[in-house]
Amino acid sequence: MKFITNGLIIREQNIGEKDKLVTVLSEAGGVIKAFVHGAKDIKSSKSAATGLLSYSRLTLHKRKDAYLISDAKTIKIFSGLRNSIENMYSAQYFCELAAVICPKEAQAEEQLKLILNALYLLSENKRDLLIVKPCVEFRLMCLAGYMPDIMMCSNCGEYEKEVMFFLPKLGQFICKDCYEKNENTEYKIKLNPSTVTAMRHCCYADTQKLFSFSLPGNDLKVLNFCGEEYIKFMLERDFKTLRFLKGLL
Ligand SMILES: [Zn+2]
Repeated sequence: MKFITNGLIIREQNIGEKDKLVTVLSEAGGVIKAFVHGAKDIKSSKSAATGLLSYSRLTLHKRKDAYLISDAKTIKIFSGLRNSIENMYSAQYFCELAAVICPKEAQAEEQLKLILNALYLLSENKRDLLIVKPCVEFRLMCLAGYMPDIMMCSNCGEYEKEVMFFLPKLGQFICKDCYEKNENTEYKIKLNPSTVTAMRHCCYADTQKLFSFSLPGNDLKVLNFCGEEYIKFMLERDFKTLRFLKGLL
């Protein structure tokens, strides 16, 4: 069976001297693994088009339980990412995250669009990575069915309080009054009203407006930490590329 789809190369592994195995976040088939024969030949047009972080038009053939890429044409390479090691690690972290939580063998158009937008904004230096990263983290989680319940305090239903706590193990907000009144000991992260608004934005905003918000530096760090902690507890794993990135920030 042959099909053509656009996809982003999110992982690249060498197989022997000439071939490689790539993981693709594809529009039509979600996350798929595919072999590329002769990929190391630099004269081959497939070589660049199947490199990590290339967005390409791919011709795929299904052979038993493995895919083979017979043709690949580059649509976009985010070369500006190479100007910043932090942006490069962020891009690789988004890929690692996508490989884990995006659908397999099912269409993943929205997830792909989200990550392509994020890579574009970082590559062209149009947004700070501390803005881009929590948008990708929370939105990918929402698309994967892990939408946090952060419209109001999970106990009293208040929409806005001076201090709210985010409970990353539950994906909920609780206001300070309810937390203290109930002698709660659940692991919490303290948020001011603007950080609360920003987290809601990351989860609920229209796709076109997603990356358009601002937050003071310290609050932005807290928002980023919330995204990381939420993913850590929900998926019960950590990400190598995120560890590298955090070592640089
Ligand atoms: Zn409350």
